Amino acid sequence: MESGEREEAFEKQDVGDLQRVYDYLRGHAEIREILLSGGDPLTLSNAKLCELFQGLRAARPGILIRVGTRVPITDPLRLDSETIAILNKFRPLRLSVHINHPRELSGGGDALDACVSAGIPVHVQTVLLRGINDTAELLAGLFRDCLDLGLTPYYLFQLDLAPGTAHFRVPLTQGLAIYRQLAARISGLGLPAYALDLPGGGGKIRLHENVICGERVTDAGRIYVLKDVSGREWGYPAE
Ligand SMILES: *Cc1c(COP(=O)(O)O)cnc(C)c1O
Repeated sequence: MESGEREEAFEKQDVGDLQRVYDYLRGHAEIREILLSGGDPLTLSNAKLCELFQGLRAARPGILIRVGTRVPITDPLRLDSETIAILNKFRPLRLSVHINHPRELSGGGDALDACVSAGIPVHVQTVLLRGINDTAELLAGLFRDCLDLGLTPYYLFQLDLAPGTAHFRVPLTQGLAIYRQLAARISGLGLPAYALDLPGGGGKIRLHENVICGERVTDAGRIYVLKDVSGREWGYPAE
């Protein structure tokens, strides 16, 4: 085999693994979405990407393909017009791009703009990082820049407990305080969900402060007491 061909075709074992994925998807119509991530799928050649998407589409014509990637940020030139045409061809398909800081958009903005212009929805996932993006001002700037580019802020993740990353962790209560300030600064369109992957396999939960902070009986009847983003209390009928 020529070295060029070796780069273009999947290895025999990969073909076997992928075949098992396609077979599984064919047998499980209840699966509506497939998430391709980590290793970054967009580090594949265009030929391999095409082969992968063709296999998925053949198995399940309607399945939503989700591509988790950082390539538009780390290697924006990789997203050439051919790649974007491939992504477009295999819709329904959505990109989730990991972006932590507004400065990352200075290199990747054009590539992301090209995706959005081609009609490919792009969602943004951000990890809350101490000393990097742990202020409401910075995050509001990042998410406004995303909105300007047509990207949807989707998740603000509390840091996973990955070994060696503790120095990046923002304590949960501080994270919630930042999130509350962020919510007061930005429209709903620009506000991602603050979420945490529970250690030990508990799955993902959305983090929020308890907005219902009490219950009172008034002349007008029983009410719940709700707290707004600035801490002020409001009433809403309980029934
Ligand atoms: C949970 C998770 C997703 C998928 O999230 P949905 O809630 O299914 O949209 C994608 N990427 C990462 C890193 C996640 O933790």
